[in-house]
Parts: sequence; structure tokens; C-alpha cells
Amino acid sequence: MNRFSYSRPGNVDTAVGELTRHEGAKFIAGGTNLLDLMKENVERPNHLIDINHLALKTIEDTEDGGLRLGALATNADTAYNDKVESRYPLLSQAILAGASAQLRNMATNGGNLFQRTRCYYFYDTGTPCNKREPGSGCGAFNGFNRIHAILGTSDENPETRCIATHPSDMAVALAALEAVVRITGPNGERTVPIADFHRLPGNEPWLDTTIQPGELVTAIDLPAKGFSDYYAYIKLRDRQSYAFALVSVAVGLEIENNQITDARIALGGVAHKPWRKPEAEAMLVGKTVTEADFQSVAETILSGAKGYGHNTFKIELAKRAIVRALQRAAKIETKS
Ligand SMILES: Cc1cc2nc3c(=O)[nH]c(=O)nc-3n(C[C@H](O)[C@H](O)[C@H](O)COP(=O)(O)OP(=O)(O)OC[C@H]3O[C@@H](n4cnc5c(N)ncnc54)[C@H](O)[C@@H]3O)c2cc1C
Ligand code: SF4
Repeated sequence: MNRFSYSRPGNVDTAVGELTRHEGAKFIAGGTNLLDLMKENVERPNHLIDINHLALKTIEDTEDGGLRLGALATNADTAYNDKVESRYPLLSQAILAGASAQLRNMATNGGNLFQRTRCYYFYDTGTPCNKREPGSGCGAFNGFNRIHAILGTSDENPETRCIATHPSDMAVALAALEAVVRITGPNGERTVPIADFHRLPGNEPWLDTTIQPGELVTAIDLPAKGFSDYYAYIKLRDRQSYAFALVSVAVGLEIENNQITDARIALGGVAHKPWRKPEAEAMLVGKTVTEADFQSVAETILSGAKGYGHNTFKIELAKRAIVRALQRAAKIETKS
């Protein structure tokens, strides 16, 4: 057991000040990921800043017609919120596809964004892992990599290699909805589009996000456009519940007079961050639903995908999931 101290600030500024002052400190929200990581000795904070008493639990309308999700609103309260269910059902569906009812009651929106990869080697401190211990190697590269990434990996330099995926379901829907993350830090407030919040491993696989030292996520803003008429979230996994995605797909379409006027497609379980390919989405715009070639869209999204042995099946699985999600979002009947 590693010793750590504990504090419970009452406002955002104090919380940010404490994180800036304590080197090696971490925020704790629902604790559903951080406590597991501490028990496995993967994370060893010397001070925990309990943020559960900050006034960041509300879900409220924004002036531009969107919705602001407090960072400390739980995943359950968010998924079952009336406004989320009616205006952003894609998000609601994605959240409810994740974890279990008990976990969603504890897990917060902010914590969900920061949950760490489920790579087995990351959790096993007896094996090399560049994310856990920079420069030590990557156990997954030549190991059992069934759940690992097929897009955006860094695999050349053994000291920075990482083929991990980001495990969040919520983040995949947020990517499709083009949410914006609100952050407060030592230098004040800033906003980051969700596409720039998570990062690919590159030469620094130990960094999951672009958050800076001392920063706290305070909210997630959803733009007005919610794709509430035509949407789908498909999650493919080894068990029907309580399992992370092997591949997931979030689709939002706008369709007017049978013609697609906007399209968003985000994939989970395939990369270090939710994966989008704007040129593939553009292939759908202007097409009628019947003339749109969903298979070509899927091929374009997966172009450049690479398997590492055990996970190579994901390439075909992802293509099929994209086609199925587009059909479901467009309300095209399929046989099965
Ligand atoms: C068995 C199991 C199955 C699961 N299945 C799924 C699944 O299928 N899909 C899915 O998406 N998720 C799944 N999860 C993950 C779960 O959704 C996350 O653990 C949860 O969302 C994390 O939220 P939390 O509030 O508990 O975060 P915590 O564990 O409290 O914190 C996680 C990290 O976020 C940081 N943090 C928290 N809040 C903030 C903030 N506001 N600003 C800055 N940093 C912050 C903490 O410092 C910590 O590093 C599963 C978890 C478990 C244990
Ligand atoms: S894939 Fe990434 S997280 Fe997993 S062992 Fe390799 S470096 Fe570590």
C-alpha cells in the first residue's frame, strides 16, 4: 500500500491550486478507474484531491442552443437526463452501452474522458509497457493483442511503441457530436474540441490527452446539432454487458427529402482516441439514402488500418459495423 494524503476542496480554484502545488497529486471523482489503477500499483499518487464537492454536477442549456454537461454529473444522470435523451439520444445510447448500472452511478463525465486504456500489459506491472513506464517496451506488440488498435498506432521505435486503444464509449459519441471540453487551470479557462482532447500515441504514448499540468475539466459542451432523428451506436464486444468495445461506431446523419445533408461517423476500440475520417463522411453528403455507398465509406475509414496478429479481425469487423450503423441510422431495413 502506498501512502497518500487526501483533501476535499470546496471550489474549482482551490482544487486547481492544490493540484498545481502538490507534485504527484491526482483528482479523484467517482474513483471507478483511479482506485483500480492504484490497487494494481499502476498509478501511485501521493495526494488525492476529492473533487466530488465541486459545483459541477448540473446539466443545463447553453446560449447557442446546446447543452452543458457538468464534469461531475454521473454517467447515469447524464444518460437518463430528459434533454440528453431527447436531443442527444446517440450520447445516451453510447453511455448506456458502457460498464454496468452500478459503475455508471459512480462514474463521472470528466472521469470518463480520462479513463485509461484496458491494455492487459498496462495493468500488469511485471511486463514492459511504454505507457506505464516510458522506454520499457510494449508487451502487446508481440503479445496477445486481440483488443488493440488497428489505426493511428505508433509501432516503429520499441521505446515509444504503443498500440493501445481508448476504452470510452461516451467519448466516441462526443466525437461524432463534436463536443467541446471546458477546462480550468492555473492560467484560467480554455476550451478544447473533443477531436483535440485525446491524442494518438506518437512519440509520447504515456500521454493520453492534451490536458496540461494543474488543469481540471469542468464541463463538456454539446453543440445544438444533436442528430436526434437519424443516429446509431453499435458496440461489438465479447460479452453483451460489462465489457469494453472491440469495435464501436457512432453515426449521426441529417437527412432531408431522402438526401443526406450531414454525416458524422466516429469509431471506438480501434485507436488511441475516437477515430474520425472527415473525407469519408463527405462521401455521403448530397447522396440520397439509397444511392449512398456505405461499403466505400467503410473502406475509406479503414484505409491504412493495420493488424498485429490477434486483432487483425477488427479491420473487417469495423467495416461491417460501419455499414450496419449507417443502415440503422438511415432507417434502412436489413434482413438480420
Ligand atoms: C469493470 C468496469 C467496466 C467498465 N466498462 C466500461 C465500458 O464498457 N465503457 C466505458 O466507456 N467505460 C467503462 N468503464 C470505465 C468507467 O466508465 C470509468 O472508470 C469511469 O467513467 C471513470 O470515471 P470516474 O469518475 O470514476 O473517474 P476516476 O476513477 O475518479 O478518475 C479517472 C481519472 O480521471 C481524472 N479526473 C476525473 N475527473 C476529472 C476532472 N474533472 N478533471 C480532470 N481530471 C479528472 C482522475 O484524476 C483520474 O486520473 C468500466 C469500468 C470498470 C471498472
Ligand atoms: S499497447 Fe501501449 S499500453 Fe499496451 S503494453 Fe504497449 S505501450 Fe503499454
